[in-house]
Amino acid sequence: MHKTALITFACFVLAAGSVAQDNSARIIDEALKPSPIQSNLERLTDQVGGRVPGTPAMQNAIAWGVDALKVAGADSVHTEEFTIPQSWAEGQTQMAAVAPTAFKLRLVSVAWAPALAPQRHIAVADVGDGSAQGFAQAGEVAGKILLVHSEEMHKWEDLFDEYLRAPDIISRAVEQKALAIAFQSTRPNDLLYRHTNSITGEIDRIPQVVVAREDAARIARLLASGQQVYADVAIPNVVGGPIKSANVVGELKGREKPDEFVVLGAHLDSWELGTGALDNGCNAALVIDALRAIKASGVRPRRSMRFILFSGEEQGMLGSEAYAMAHRAELDKAAGVAVIDSGIGRVTGFSLGGRKDVVPAATTLVAPLKQFDAATLTTDAEWGTDHFDFMLEGVPTFVANQEEGNYLINYHAMSDTYDKVDIAELKKHVAEMAELAFALADSPDRVGPRLTRAQIEQTMHETHLDDQMKVFGIWQQWQAGKRGRQ
Ligand SMILES: [Zn+2]
Repeated sequence: MHKTALITFACFVLAAGSVAQDNSARIIDEALKPSPIQSNLERLTDQVGGRVPGTPAMQNAIAWGVDALKVAGADSVHTEEFTIPQSWAEGQTQMAAVAPTAFKLRLVSVAWAPALAPQRHIAVADVGDGSAQGFAQAGEVAGKILLVHSEEMHKWEDLFDEYLRAPDIISRAVEQKALAIAFQSTRPNDLLYRHTNSITGEIDRIPQVVVAREDAARIARLLASGQQVYADVAIPNVVGGPIKSANVVGELKGREKPDEFVVLGAHLDSWELGTGALDNGCNAALVIDALRAIKASGVRPRRSMRFILFSGEEQGMLGSEAYAMAHRAELDKAAGVAVIDSGIGRVTGFSLGGRKDVVPAATTLVAPLKQFDAATLTTDAEWGTDHFDFMLEGVPTFVANQEEGNYLINYHAMSDTYDKVDIAELKKHVAEMAELAFALADSPDRVGPRLTRAQIEQTMHETHLDDQMKVFGIWQQWQAGKRGRQ
């Protein structure tokens, strides 16, 4: 290359780089300014409340999302309906020990578990941690309520363990004709939470409850002392047919490649024992405020941006699965999908869904987040939030890696309420997610290509995502071509 040309080229790269830095700085600056995020979140949690698809609260939440995205300055806002196979609501779940001593248990039903008509004087069997060995030690369990012990949850691994262990426990219980499963709460101090082991929106195979940690331990001690425990139980869950829910989509049109797009998403639905503040109301409010900040910065991205509030996430990422499926024909145009779903635990960086190939470009895009110590990239791939079906389609995905913070203790629990949200931390996360999503949309070159089916499968093996998928039956869907890239 001629020396002058080289200098000119270098200057051009420098100029393009500094424009990008300027834009990032402006967006971060706007994100940190006063905004309606706090009042938006207060309305969603305190006024709308817990939001399970199929309930009026979910419909109110969707209306909240449409309004707030319009106010934030979206070019357009619309909803996209999808179907959840069955509806579910808890009735008056009750269980009381009746022998050798009488006391009431504190408990709730597991979500999307079947109802159980009132039963009297049912034997309780302790199956330990629910492993094959635990079942063997319990002896005959047919017709009994099975008590499954748990460890207290402190780390992300503990949470994944709770989900990953359940399918085998359920299979053993069904095979051995147990009446119901009573899982010990993973949280202390009688805290109850809404767990689910059905990730398809269909009703599970056997009635299940979560029992207060202390009550479960008391039953276990009585059994261990050699006394047979009997209980009365009733789980009058209300189960119905298919229901409609909807994702909410706000859009900013791109200035140069409007048919290409980037998604910034978080789920809007929640469980209903609390008001879904950490999971995931604060991040639904974040998505809206990210749009506001980008619009207010006055810079329009090269590609279009879709700000999506997904529904049906808690039932198994059903809204984002439906969205990826409905938009499959245009996913070649998807330049990236960024998702946040872990309350206000400090963001450390992003998980790249197993994509080593996007590390160099992504490192540049998140460089402005070093000031927040939020620029560490990891090449793991995870199940469990709304990037999942986009990842299965080969689209580059970015999930915020977050510290546990106060997320796990309040996870799906009665205590997941507005007062748990650190608004200053949330605003910082708005800046981080807005910066990343804008950079993905504005970068001259895309961060990475859409992977082929063979490439996607390779990342699944490399990251051992395939093992997780097998536990949940998703690997079979992938292999049958029912889910993910064709
Ligand atoms: Zn969530």
